[in-house]
Amino acid sequence: MRRCRGIYAITLTLVLFMTGFATAGLALANSTGGTQVPAATIPLVSTKATGGTSSTSPAPVPAPRRYPMSARGWVFPLYPLSHVGGPGTWSMDAGVDLGGAANQCGPQLLELAVASGTIVHEGLEGFGAWSPVLLIDSGPATGRYVYYGHASPDLVPVGTHVTAGQPIAEVGCGDVGISFAPHLEIGVLPVGATNPEDLPAFGQTAQETRADLSAAYKVAMSAYLAHRRGPRRQPSTAAARRLRAQRSSWATLPRGLPINAYLN
Ligand SMILES: [Zn+2]
Repeated sequence: MRRCRGIYAITLTLVLFMTGFATAGLALANSTGGTQVPAATIPLVSTKATGGTSSTSPAPVPAPRRYPMSARGWVFPLYPLSHVGGPGTWSMDAGVDLGGAANQCGPQLLELAVASGTIVHEGLEGFGAWSPVLLIDSGPATGRYVYYGHASPDLVPVGTHVTAGQPIAEVGCGDVGISFAPHLEIGVLPVGATNPEDLPAFGQTAQETRADLSAAYKVAMSAYLAHRRGPRRQPSTAAARRLRAQRSSWATLPRGLPINAYLN
């Protein structure tokens, strides 16, 4: 549940050793500077709950594109990607802790449904009164419950059917539940769980969650970089080099990141 400065230091060191990944990460960080990205630069997903067009818009805008879904069945759960701390900053818990590169929260960092399904519960002990639980109803993760810890506020009520990539909550600002900094702890309940509050034990499903997250992050980042590059413009030699470095760094991401020693 907590994000620990010690973990950051360790993971930062790991990341710094991975110069290719660090270069790409810094490039990404520099693109936002930790400030709010203007809506016009956000390419991948709509903040509208249903993707419907607004009748108040004076001019048509390009249809927003959602994050692609990975073959494992998840859409990456944080938006926009330009605000998200990369995999080197994630830490293992009962789920996986991840968040904004500059602790963004609230409307600056939305939580998305990882797949289509129904919000079956909100509010979890230790995670605050809003944390949604999604019951997935399509794709390879059908039947699994996914919890979003430390969210505040929720954006849809219990009982809502949501589509993959639909915003369902915001990363809570401050310490929501038992937490030291704004972040999302996302995790999957064990196979066969029937109670949405039956959260996994530490280590029970976290590796599975991390694999789902990593796969989703990879396809989202590929789409993000492709969009930034543009459909017609050829990448510069430097940009192409960065892309190659980014891709190769994904293949060499460290496995088994340090376990967060501060439970609850
Ligand atoms: Zn946690």
